[in-house]
Amino acid sequence: MSGGAPASPFAEDQDTYWHTTTHILAQAVCRLFPNARYAIGPTIEEGFYYDFDVGRNFLPEDLEKIEAEMKKVIEENHTLEHMLWSKEEAVGFFEKKGQTFKVELIRELLADKVSIYRQGEFTDLCRGPHLKRTGLVRHFKLLTFSGCYWRANDKGQKLQRIYGTACLSAEELETYVKRIEEAKRRDHRRLGTELDLFSFEELAGPGVVFYHPKGALVRSLIEDYVKQQHLARGYELVATPHIFRTEIWKQSGHLEYYKEFMFLFEAEEQAFGIKPMNCPGHMLIYRARLRSYRDLPLRFFELGTVYRNEKSGVLHGLLRVRGFTQDDAHIFLQEDQLVEEIRQILNFEFDMLRAFGFTEYEVELSTRPEKHIGTPQSWEHAEAALRDAMKSRNLSFAVHEGEGAFYGPKIDIKIKDALGRRWQCGTIQCDFALPERFDLTYAGADGKAHRTIMVHRALLGSFERFLGMLLEHYAGALPVWLAPVQVMAIPIGDKFLGYAQQVVEMLRARGVRVRVDGRKEKMQAKIRDAQLQQIPYMVVVGEREAQAQGVAVRHRREGDLGSMSLEAFTARVVRESLPARQQEGKQP
Ligand SMILES: [Zn+2]
Ligand SMILES: [Zn+2]
Repeated sequence: MSGGAPASPFAEDQDTYWHTTTHILAQAVCRLFPNARYAIGPTIEEGFYYDFDVGRNFLPEDLEKIEAEMKKVIEENHTLEHMLWSKEEAVGFFEKKGQTFKVELIRELLADKVSIYRQGEFTDLCRGPHLKRTGLVRHFKLLTFSGCYWRANDKGQKLQRIYGTACLSAEELETYVKRIEEAKRRDHRRLGTELDLFSFEELAGPGVVFYHPKGALVRSLIEDYVKQQHLARGYELVATPHIFRTEIWKQSGHLEYYKEFMFLFEAEEQAFGIKPMNCPGHMLIYRARLRSYRDLPLRFFELGTVYRNEKSGVLHGLLRVRGFTQDDAHIFLQEDQLVEEIRQILNFEFDMLRAFGFTEYEVELSTRPEKHIGTPQSWEHAEAALRDAMKSRNLSFAVHEGEGAFYGPKIDIKIKDALGRRWQCGTIQCDFALPERFDLTYAGADGKAHRTIMVHRALLGSFERFLGMLLEHYAGALPVWLAPVQVMAIPIGDKFLGYAQQVVEMLRARGVRVRVDGRKEKMQAKIRDAQLQQIPYMVVVGEREAQAQGVAVRHRREGDLGSMSLEAFTARVVRESLPARQQEGKQP
């Protein structure tokens, strides 16, 4: 599981249970819409979905009718019968039924035999496994529906997707549905609009983010902190261009292995590509000078903006975009420096996550995939180094066989948010292959040229994704150090606007991000608006406050904090304007 969904209430067999429920859903839809064509119905983090073409869009009342029909299918307690058909047999069957999506899927299968499940009058193509009878599914709910495309291709057939979930008991289902609703309330796309942080613009095309002033401010606060931390840990800042001749992508292997995700274009009859990754740029800088063993490890860091040609159907708010910026570094080193360097990166990563308020995470090691470059020996070296570094830090980690990048094994760090959801965050990737392709060397103590090793790493990952996750984790109430507006000064009537301005100036002089609400609204309305904007502090000023040179303080969560001297309040906000880790007094 990763991102997006609440933690699952199932200990095991969740997939089987949900999978069976999707078949029941499809059976019910086919009964109510006799011309329905059913496409795919996988399980996902929070349950399952099934895609249909029923000749029109679903309506909210359809969901109720479908749920009622699903209950009938469950009561009828059909056996799920497993069969293996030949490809021709399966194609023939689904062709006769007009199920063109299934026909297309079966034709693409490599195996000779096709796995088929039947329950009552409903037959589906599926690997399984499933529950034995439909009657074993008890508690389910259809959550929502939306438009989608066959194979996420926006030029393809338009379909309607129904989402649902199922649980073992009614109580579990209720809790679970509540959590899904809570996740919806925290949806960063909604918060992005409500808090005026960012937007996507039709005219500019999908998957590229427009940061509004407040969003750009939050982003630059994160960037400043990230830069400062890197410089303090011996990284060097570099900056590289966004467009490169395709020769470089041929040399890096991207054109061979990554072409479908690249934006390619021509200028003056030469082929160019927009960078989908920063690595080749950093390697060119490494190669621009002779490097000695005394220079290593050499750590190049860039807030690198990259572009990837993701299908528009898979784009999702800030979480999946076409243009994004990574806190990207490439570390050039000798083989015997690898374990210690990875250990340091892991420390850096966990310090960084704590600064943003995350203390729970999962670590995964991904090993050699089928499509790869580099020799078996170099892969083994790299995998051993990653394991050793994690063991020396007493980290427990899961191993994902065959899921490494094409150029090397990797460590992924997934953090857990307030709803227990897991989000992909940092990644550390060893690379024995690219230094070979770019002939990266250093002069050793023996005066001879040796092959350099490279580590790619990002700690927060994509800033876009990280911001989306922060918003959902905090339900929009960003910590004081990241809040675009930290304090809203609210004068009780125009008479005290002057004193409010004085308060603002004093706070601003100490670096506090403060605004004054000078509208002719009632005080309560101003408080409510500031609260809706998730501003951490509201200071109300009137006669009493002006006389005492103080403020009446309201906190967005704790409510009324009473009166404080301006000095005491300023000191409080300034203290909270430091990242979480530094407030605990733990400097790097
Ligand atoms: Zn199935
Ligand atoms: Zn890289």
